[in-house]
Amino acid sequence: MKITRISVFHRDLPLEHPYWLSGGRLKFEVLDATFVKLETDAGLIGWGEGTPWGHTYVPAHGPGIRAGIETMAPAILGCDPRLTVNVERAMDLQLPGHLYAKSPIDMACWDIAGQAAGLPIADMLGGGSRRLAPIASSVGATTPQETEAVMNRYRQRGYKVHSVKVGGDVERDIERIRHVEAFRKPDERILYDVNRAWTRQQAMRVMTATEGLGIMVEQPGETLDDIAAIRPLTRTPISVDESLVTLQDAARIARDGLAEVFGIKLNRVGGLTRARRMRDIALAHGIDCFVMATGGSVLADTEALHLAATIPDDNMLGVWACQDMLTVDIASGRGPRNIDGCLHLPEAPGLGVHPDEDALGAAVAVYS
Ligand code: MG
Repeated sequence: MKITRISVFHRDLPLEHPYWLSGGRLKFEVLDATFVKLETDAGLIGWGEGTPWGHTYVPAHGPGIRAGIETMAPAILGCDPRLTVNVERAMDLQLPGHLYAKSPIDMACWDIAGQAAGLPIADMLGGGSRRLAPIASSVGATTPQETEAVMNRYRQRGYKVHSVKVGGDVERDIERIRHVEAFRKPDERILYDVNRAWTRQQAMRVMTATEGLGIMVEQPGETLDDIAAIRPLTRTPISVDESLVTLQDAARIARDGLAEVFGIKLNRVGGLTRARRMRDIALAHGIDCFVMATGGSVLADTEALHLAATIPDDNMLGVWACQDMLTVDIASGRGPRNIDGCLHLPEAPGLGVHPDEDALGAAVAVYS
């Protein structure tokens, strides 16, 4: 089987509510999404999506995905999409790095491989759990009262896992964490996500002041060096996501005991082919996982759901439904949707959901 045609679509995905990170330092209102359609000489069609969380969150650039695919297209055309490692190597030879640009191609290849085998992607990855996957909310950084209001909005939709954004001001963060913990329900899991905003002294002050609350924090510093400095000084469990980009990062975190949780974001790490190796490092070292899209539509959420299914239930802490934060739906309600705070893995071969091409507009580039 050979890839014969690559069509690239660009679509803006507006957020329903403006969203702040790092104590209001970063504001987001619309996501730049790239959708990729791979066609093959066997008649099978696969879809991929690459949607970074804006341009300012981490080094990933929506227009850069489309430019990257333009550069890689000659190497991708002619590849057998079922041989995902071969496609990975072809892309790496043509364009080192730029993992976020490779992720949608990788996703579309897995979609085709699953369809060819008659299996959902999760089963192509070795099979796994059919438990409903708990969705983590994403609660932007605001005042304690606004935080409670946003969490209640998610609670009404059944969410029991929440990622509450903190960072930026020590006193405000301590107040906000104490406030959220005071109204946390017994069956809720809350992750306090700093998104790199704390310096080392800020991290130590907040984590020391809240240590008795039994909380968990995500990405409490800018770099792995910062987290390595903080780790021995606190008993609070740490999740790392933004500093988890390469397999080498995963190996260092596991070997040096820098974190107890991986936040694996598919677009950032380059797609399923690479993310599954991080999963294996995590499980081999007693590290639990959140598995998520970096952002995007039901397609990106579904890709993450397939990998999440291959992680034992006790080690898989949550997925994300970024789709719930958008004003547009490019798949007309098809695919996994929130049911009582959970997503249900599709059983159709491949990814299990494709977009409405009409909702994407005309292709911005076609390579054949
Ligand atoms: Mg995070």
